[in-house]
This record gives sequence, C-alpha cells and structure tokens, in this order.
Amino acid sequence: EGGTVRFPFDNSYARLPDRFRARLDPTPVAAPRLLRLNTALAERLGLDPAALASPEGVAILAGNRVPEGAEPIAAAYAGHQFGGFSPQLGDGRAILLGEVVAPDGARFDIQLKGSGRTPFSRSGDGRAAVGPVLREYLVSEAMAALGVPTTRALAAVSTGQAVMRETPLPGAVLTRVASSHIRVGTFQFFAARRDVEALRVLADHAIARHYPEAAEAPSPARALLEGVVARQAALVGQWMLIGFIHGVMNTDNTSVSGETIDYGPCAFMDAYDASTVFSSIDHGGRYAYGSQPGIMQWNLARLAEALLPLLAEDEDAAVAVAQEVLAGYAPAFEAAYLGGLRAKIGLPGDRAGDHALAGDLLKAMAENGADFTLTFRRLCRAAEDEAGDAAVRALFTDPAAYDAWALRWRERLAEAGGDPTARAAAMHAVNPAVIPRNHLVEAALESAVQRDDLAPFEALLASVTRPFEDQPGADVAPGAPEQPYMTFCGT
Ligand code: AMP
Ligand code: MG
Ligand code: MG
Repeated sequence: EGGTVRFPFDNSYARLPDRFRARLDPTPVAAPRLLRLNTALAERLGLDPAALASPEGVAILAGNRVPEGAEPIAAAYAGHQFGGFSPQLGDGRAILLGEVVAPDGARFDIQLKGSGRTPFSRSGDGRAAVGPVLREYLVSEAMAALGVPTTRALAAVSTGQAVMRETPLPGAVLTRVASSHIRVGTFQFFAARRDVEALRVLADHAIARHYPEAAEAPSPARALLEGVVARQAALVGQWMLIGFIHGVMNTDNTSVSGETIDYGPCAFMDAYDASTVFSSIDHGGRYAYGSQPGIMQWNLARLAEALLPLLAEDEDAAVAVAQEVLAGYAPAFEAAYLGGLRAKIGLPGDRAGDHALAGDLLKAMAENGADFTLTFRRLCRAAEDEAGDAAVRALFTDPAAYDAWALRWRERLAEAGGDPTARAAAMHAVNPAVIPRNHLVEAALESAVQRDDLAPFEALLASVTRPFEDQPGADVAPGAPEQPYMTFCGT
C-alpha cells in the first residue's frame, strides 16, 4: 500500500538549450503490469519501493502518468554505427523523466526505455519487447554485482500491448537508471553541426556531473577528454576480465560517464575465444570480444575529434592535444587489464614474465576450449592446494596443456610466497563463480515471454547478483551449443 510516489527531481539536462532535446511525454500503454521492481536500487535512490509498486507507481513506470517534478525529454545525439556516421540518432524509444538526487547527493537519470515514438524514432515503433527488457535488467544488474560501472534497472513493466517484430511479441518498458545518458554521440551531434557553443555547454555539463575536478584544470576540455579516456580504458579492462561482450560498441552506446550502457546483443563468453561474436548483425566481427579494446580507442578518437574546437585555438594545436591524450589510452587499458589478469591468477605484484605467464594460460584455454569463467574460478582452489588441479585440467580438451602451464605457475607462486589461503581468498574475490550464462538467460526469457512465468528469471537474477558466491549447479561448463549462440538488437 504505497503512498504517492515522490521523485526528488532536479532536471539539469532539461535546463540545457532546446536544441539538446525534444520535450514530450511518454506514450501511454494499454495495461501496465509490474514484472519486476528493484527494491534495493529504489531505496538507494531515495524512492519508496511500496509507492513504486502501487498502481500509481506502476502507471509512472509504464509511462501512463508523468510524476510531479518530471520534465520528460528525448535527447538528441548522433553516432557512428558499425563505423558509419549518422548525424542524427537520438532517443528513438526512450524518454528521460528527469534526474533524481539520491540521499547521498548522487544524481541519477530516470529513463523509460520502450516508452513510445519520439521525434528521433525514424522508422522505429518506439517500443521494446519483454524479452530484451528482461535481458537488459538481468545483465545490467549482474554487471553491477560484478563491480562493473553500469547503468542499472529499476523496474520492468509489461504493457499489455504487442510489439511487431518478426512475429508479435509482448511489449514492455524498462526503467533505466544511469549517472547520465551523455554519450560520445552527444558530442558528435553538435560537432557535426559545427555548433561550438553547444559543445561548450555540453562539456561544462559533463564536467560538472562526472569530472568536477576538470573544471579547475588549465584546459577543462582536455581534462574532460583525459577523464573519459581513463574511465573507458578501465571499463573495457573490466569487461575483458569477466568475458563480457558488449555487442554494439557504437559511439552512441559509449557513455561519457564511463558506465556500460545499452544492453542489446550483449552476452558473456563461455569457452575462451577472442574472436567470439554473438550479435546477429555483426557480420564482420567488428565488435568481437578481442576487438573491444581497439574499438573503444577508436570511439574515443571520435570523441576527441568532436572536442577539437574546445581543445585549442587553432586546429593543429588541437589535434596535437587530442593525440597526446589519446596516447594515454593503450597504457591505461593495459594497466587495468594486465593488472586484473595477474590478480586472476593470484599474482598481484608485477614481475617480468607474469604477463607472458597469464597470456600462455589464455592461449592454452583458447586451444583447448576451456570455459573462461570456470577456469579462473577453479584456479582459486588450485592456488591453495594442488588437489584443486583436477577440476581445472578437466576443462581442457587436452588436460596436459594445463599441467604444463600449472608447473610454471606453481614455481612462480612459490617464488611470490605469501599465505596460500589468503591468496585463494583474494582470487575468489576477483574471479566470479557465476555469470549470466547464455542458455540460462534464453530459458528464463523464453519462460517469461511464452508462459508468463517469471520464476526462472527471478531465480537467475538472484543467482547472477551474487556472482562471487559458489552456488549449487553453477560450477558446470555448458556444452558447446548445437548452433552458434546468436543475440539480436533493436528488439
Ligand atoms: P541502438 O542500436 O540500441 O544503440 O539504437 C540505435 C538507435 O536506434 C537509437 O537512436 C535508438 O533510439 C533507435 N531505436 C532502436 N530501437 C528503436 C525502436 N524500436 N523504435 C525507435 N527507435 C529505435
Ligand atoms: Mg543505443
Ligand atoms: Mg539499444
């Protein structure tokens, strides 16, 4: 029995000039029904979960009612999609209700995704289907629990309306929470229009929200770029360390805040293979697992390009600044990734040969179809006790490949010294036991969509949001699928 839903709104983006967005309300839906509410996140935001779950709250989460203090907008942005530039994309099926300021002062966008057509919809219907909405809910919450910066899911509501895809599918609206929705593509939107004044306003806004220290720098725009480069390098490093494949790393899906955003055809890798691609539309493998670090660098170069008018008075000087800052990306990524990889095998120090040792494990895994998550998880016990080797080597088609590597690893561990139990505990804290497995995600979504049974979704959500706990049944490598696993976006 919730009371009136009160959102502590303070809508800084809506106060920006008109050309930053279109002002419009969400389009109401036929029969809203709450599928899932993220009670813990509601509380973190200072929202009353009971009020959100009430009919009035659900009407808000469906877009049927605009809460007091909201200033709904669809944001303008551009972007490179698979390398090709679109000067106008924008929120085609999302509406930002506003920004809430949480009890601790942190600011969060509250966005409805799947809330109807907007001036940016082009040929799209502005809607989302239950399956993809629950998928984003599940994977983004798993990522948050894995400690990866990410947008969050506050709620999923079914609409009682069908959306037309290849077949009619039940529709839904996701309430997405993000520290902002400013994208590389937002800067590109104004750069493409040579609207330097808007670039300046947007840079100031992004700095105030995400990089306040940059405001004090000799060149705030340069400091902003440095900040985004550092956060994205660290972010992609984290993705690589858990086997996450974003799937559509277009510049409009690259957040300036450094959060993972836009969970479309994303998926986690099972057997380690750097060429893994799941997205049905990624024919060239542009966004394959192993390509992600390079693609992010490319996306950041597009951000740098958009920022050129702010980086220096004359263009040559601006390009030099951009290049200098971008040169910091590769070392920052390597520090994050290689440091994390060493931690995954229990070697937090940095000694010559450690990277080669970690690299040789990955190579053996790739050659032997070893499950990425389970190899590292089972390695934790092996680090403490050689009796743990049996479980790791069983993951390799040729177990001798592991044995040869483990010999070298043990020598290095002995050299490093330290308490084996403490080492295993540290490894358990960085090597997840549980990720959203593709076959389980599919089964959970199918049950929700086909049979209106959310029990498998609830069970999987409960499991993937405790990723560092060993759980019954999770310690099993899925067999190779009969068909390559395929994910879809824009659904
Ligand atoms: P994405 O591939 O999810 O990053 O989306 C790229 C662009 O397509 C964005 O401008 C989206 O708002 C837009 N879009 C995706 N799906 C739809 C849809 N069903 N209706 C309208 N616009 C959409
Ligand atoms: Mg997108
Ligand atoms: Mg999308």
